[in-house]
Amino acid sequence: VVEADLLILGASEVVTCRGPSRGIAAADLGRLEVIQDGAVAIKDGRILAVGPKSEVEAEYRAGFRIDAEGRLVSPGLVDPHSHLLFGGDRCAEYEEKILGRVVGANLERGIAVTIKATRAASDRFLVEQALRDLDVALSHGTTTLEAKTGYGLDRESELRLLQLTVGLEHAVEVVPTFLGAHVLPEDYVGRREAYVQLLIDMMPEVATLAEYCDVSCDPSCFTAEECLRMGEVARRHGMGIRVHADQTGDAGGAALAARLRAASADHLDYASVEGLRAMADAGTVAVFLPAVTLHLMEMTPPITDGEIGSAQKPFMPLAVRRAIEAGTVVALSTDYNPGSAPTPSMQIVMQLAARLYRLTYAQIWHMCTLNAAASVGRGHDRGSLAPGKRADLVIWTEPNHRRIINRFGYNMVDQVLIEGRTMVRGGRPVEAKHRRAMA
Ligand SMILES: [Zn+2]
Repeated sequence: VVEADLLILGASEVVTCRGPSRGIAAADLGRLEVIQDGAVAIKDGRILAVGPKSEVEAEYRAGFRIDAEGRLVSPGLVDPHSHLLFGGDRCAEYEEKILGRVVGANLERGIAVTIKATRAASDRFLVEQALRDLDVALSHGTTTLEAKTGYGLDRESELRLLQLTVGLEHAVEVVPTFLGAHVLPEDYVGRREAYVQLLIDMMPEVATLAEYCDVSCDPSCFTAEECLRMGEVARRHGMGIRVHADQTGDAGGAALAARLRAASADHLDYASVEGLRAMADAGTVAVFLPAVTLHLMEMTPPITDGEIGSAQKPFMPLAVRRAIEAGTVVALSTDYNPGSAPTPSMQIVMQLAARLYRLTYAQIWHMCTLNAAASVGRGHDRGSLAPGKRADLVIWTEPNHRRIINRFGYNMVDQVLIEGRTMVRGGRPVEAKHRRAMA
């Protein structure tokens, strides 16, 4: 009998989301490993064993045991795309949108409001808001989260956001990404080249802080050529690459991401099939963002002058299907930000992915765990329940994995463990333990 630190017993189901560390693709996405009456053994913050309770109990003992009481146990959720630090909100503008009075892309309009408010916000405000948002993400099952800058858009403001992101002390691991190339700032209109050069000149310093560099390759942002130049410099300085790709039109973002051997390309609403195939070959993860589809009302018809018009993106289920059929590893994310996706909950993302993108339960579980982890370079370490991996897991209030997606709109998390330590109990962060140091 092997000595463990902790045994989790009595789970009606353990979903493992096991697969290769580069992520799960194609038909394998539809095959979810579900262990009935499962158990997990944990030692030193790592998973020792996962299997049927009878086998785990026979082989391992531990002084500490958690009874899952006939409920679901899963890996912690991974959110691979967020804009965590920002000032202000976009509530007023949203009501105009509801009434059909806002036309044009979010990228060209409202983002300027957030940039102004973020530049004006104090460090303390930004950090405290981010910690509260991380609490919400954690309470809803997220254990690792990628966070981008991109609301500073000048040298000083971008470096400040990056430093604040790196300095966040929270149980949820935050993966820092530099997104200076989010949109062209208003004060550089007509001087695109100067802004691209500014970002390129920043790369050596940025690379000491950021794990990834993200570039927006979109008709309303930067061209594929500009993104290639910035991405190549970022690569040379040791950063991984992420791409906001083809959200408002096909800018060749998917192919560019493949060419840069990017870790991920995100949005992809208008990505070409050739681009998606190139991504599959390059090992670039395709990240789709159903909270954006919902919040920007892209799949519901607009009403103009009392007449029902045509939905902007009724094709989104096919866009996702094309990515799966091209053989890319597909992940899901919140895209948490005040303008186009004001929710830090991966749980609602899972629920929206079924309803808006017509994905199955098995596909969605893989896309929010192992595949999301793979897209932030952590597929070898977390995202599934397998021996040797970090013991990041969720004990839900429900008896099976289907109910987490079939029901919607309220929190179904009971406990969250990170590295084998309980960080959430009863759906709420455990007092003070989840914040390693207060700001
Ligand atoms: Zn984004």
